[in-house]
Amino acid sequence: MATDTDVLVLGGGSTGCGIARDLAMRGLEVTLVERGNLTDGTTGRMHGLLHSGGRYAVSDRASATECIEENEILREIAGHCVEMTGGLFVQRPEDSDEYFREKLEGCRACDIPARVLSGREAREREPYLASDIERAISVPDGAVDPFRLCVANAIDAENHGARIETHAEVIDLLREGEDVYGVRVRHDSGPGKRVHQSPGSTEAITAEYVVNATGAWAGQIGAMADLDVAVRPSKGVMTIMNVRQVDTVINRCRPKGDADIIVPHETTAILGTTDEEVTDPDDYPEAEWEVDMMIDTLSDLVPILEDARTIRSFWGVRPLYEPPETGTRDPTDITRDFFLIDHEDRDGVTGVSSIVGGKFTTYRAMAEEISDHVCEKLGVTAHCSTADRPLPGSENIAALEEGMDRFGLRSPVARRSTKRLGSRSREVLETDDPNPVICACEGVTRAEVRDAVSQSGSDLNAVRIRTRASMGNCQGGFCCVGMANELHPDHDEATARAALDELFQERWKGQRHALWGEQLSQAMLNYALHATTMNRDYDPARSEADRDVRPGAIGSGSTAADLEYDAFDQGDR
Ligand SMILES: Cc1cc2nc3c(=O)[nH]c(=O)nc-3n(C[C@H](O)[C@H](O)[C@H](O)COP(=O)(O)OP(=O)(O)OC[C@H]3O[C@@H](n4cnc5c(N)ncnc54)[C@H](O)[C@@H]3O)c2cc1C
Repeated sequence: MATDTDVLVLGGGSTGCGIARDLAMRGLEVTLVERGNLTDGTTGRMHGLLHSGGRYAVSDRASATECIEENEILREIAGHCVEMTGGLFVQRPEDSDEYFREKLEGCRACDIPARVLSGREAREREPYLASDIERAISVPDGAVDPFRLCVANAIDAENHGARIETHAEVIDLLREGEDVYGVRVRHDSGPGKRVHQSPGSTEAITAEYVVNATGAWAGQIGAMADLDVAVRPSKGVMTIMNVRQVDTVINRCRPKGDADIIVPHETTAILGTTDEEVTDPDDYPEAEWEVDMMIDTLSDLVPILEDARTIRSFWGVRPLYEPPETGTRDPTDITRDFFLIDHEDRDGVTGVSSIVGGKFTTYRAMAEEISDHVCEKLGVTAHCSTADRPLPGSENIAALEEGMDRFGLRSPVARRSTKRLGSRSREVLETDDPNPVICACEGVTRAEVRDAVSQSGSDLNAVRIRTRASMGNCQGGFCCVGMANELHPDHDEATARAALDELFQERWKGQRHALWGEQLSQAMLNYALHATTMNRDYDPARSEADRDVRPGAIGSGSTAADLEYDAFDQGDR
């Protein structure tokens, strides 16, 4: 029977996009379906650490070795998505000498370059480290931008002929007897310029082979074909600080626990995290105390965090997996390794495999392993080349440096723009038009915003992800309107206003958890700014029907009076 595609990849996170790129580069016909936008799942909600492997060097040496290998590969093929900040495992007086020694030995055994620094040397490198930090191990941790890296994989997959279908939710697996031969998806309209199928319509897509790469949702997908994929989703909180209190990744040198890592990311620092099993990856509690715990505990390593301002918090859900009968009680003990489940071998069901677990840092290796497996099933002999072929935007780091000079890149703004754009810098930044900074916190210029609009249409959240505009200190307070302005003249006023609302809502979502004292002042400042200058709490440009509901500046369809004041902690901060 003729099928629509050779391979159907389910899930548009780092794993799914990596698989689509790998298989498309090997010459297979690939279709990827994702229920939301790319990175909508865990990939868009992670800590941003490019692991050196140091974190796993005591508990899980196989994962540690894999991390350092992939760390080196990603620096080569995706340099424009990575900032090599370096990392420190710091020891406090109460942390054990024995564990410090084990960590060092583990790093060395896994070929992770590691060096011991005295407390003084560590503080010379990171002046805000606590004065009682006794010593540290330096490792090649880095910061990685998951949005850019994931999108770069998807673009390259498309460049090799893949069909990437976002806003296409898998609602059923097509199974006949003991064979899975495709899926049924329900289409939705997505924002942006991509052409989507008609919203609400369904489509059956048949394939020679189906790969379930839906991460924390892999169990739900498996259940659609009576296959048991025992994912154990585990949530973690991350809190974004207003500035980079540290320029190096700071890890606590003790066995894994809550709140033990700070990752510098662009202009911010991200504190994390926790590890708590949840039953539903789409519905779990997000509590204020979790944010407080991040700040309190990590202040032991970097005391100025106590007085710093947080700008937002977010939660992600790990797609942890362990083979049946392992029965680990504590989610922090569940392995971070990944598993390829061949449902033919395990369940006697042909045409489908699942890939679960793992880390963002190892997405490419996961993609390689399952792509080898799929090729074997389909009798394809082409080899993997993703470790050697640069991703779009990072073909040539030297050219990037040269580009910085060419564009007069003495200013941090230009340096940041070029870093973000990689090999596309010249194409985007060389403009005769005025090129003011639209987002002052992140240093994003009009040329970059316009370029992102040309790729993603009116979806300002997609512009945000591509450029980082509105992700800085003011959380869009000052730049959202400027971003919406750039939609003109390609999009009409109603579209621009709808896009602005969506962007506000997205920004507000992450701030609700951190509203107390001066935090609250900043949120109210933003609210007042938009209510008074843009009349956003009573928008005259809306239709009469809309006016009745008086959409507010904060929250969907809300008015100022509807604001959830319960969210504002009256505590003694
Ligand atoms: C708190 C936290 C911090 C982390 N920090 C780090 C870190 O610093 N470094 C690191 O290397 N790793 C980190 N990780 C791990 C890493 O983020 C994940 O391992 C990785 O992102 C998983 O990618 P994925 O593609 O497998 O899953 P996902 O990114 O979740 O992709 C699965 C996709 O499937 C889609 N989907 C679900 N159901 C359907 C359906 N019915 N139809 C179609 N599509 C569907 C989802 O929308 C989603 O986009 C962290 C994880 C968490 C939770």
